[in-house]
Amino acid sequence: MPPAVGVLALQGAFFKHIEMIRALGTSAAEVRGPSDLAGIKALVIPGGESTTISKMLLRWELMEPIRGLIADGLPVFGTCAGLILLADRLVNWNTLPRPGGMNIRVERNAYGRQIDSFEAALQISVPDAPEFDESLFTGVFIRAPRILPDSVGEDVRVLCRFEGAPVLVRCGSILAAAFHPELSDDTRIHRWFLREMVGGV
Ligand code: GLN
Repeated sequence: MPPAVGVLALQGAFFKHIEMIRALGTSAAEVRGPSDLAGIKALVIPGGESTTISKMLLRWELMEPIRGLIADGLPVFGTCAGLILLADRLVNWNTLPRPGGMNIRVERNAYGRQIDSFEAALQISVPDAPEFDESLFTGVFIRAPRILPDSVGEDVRVLCRFEGAPVLVRCGSILAAAFHPELSDDTRIHRWFLREMVGGV
């Protein structure tokens, strides 16, 4: 039986996602080639280095299949580099081959260099999800991309902002975070994604 959730495992911070999804009682497995996409009900594109992941998506012939699944409405959750790969428009690297799908414009590494990685207490506001009102969410930002506030399309819902910029957004079946929700011991975003955007897993 295929896993419910496929986690792109070409490079970067994929294993924490797998652990968190499994801890929530949902099956998850690594996606390394096109056959790993068969039958999955959702896909996670993790953080890492977007340029490297981009090259490997082409090399392992995953770019087109993933683009197709996104176009068909497969629920996708992208974090950090994953958000960059899901953005339709990039400030400096717009030629970077990527699946895209979200009507946002993104600046890579806009919050500084590795040494400037930081944590921030985030207020997440999601309709019908009172669990986010109980306490702030600790967002771990690592060389994070910045979504340009004026760039979000009308079909994009901003679920959280930090210093005026959207850091958690939803566009139809795509959810994307500029930070790393898999790195805090807080499963709320993953649980909400599975419950509200994937369902029945
Ligand atoms: N800076 C990375 C990039 O541009 C993203 C960092 C991350 O995923 N933590 O791809």
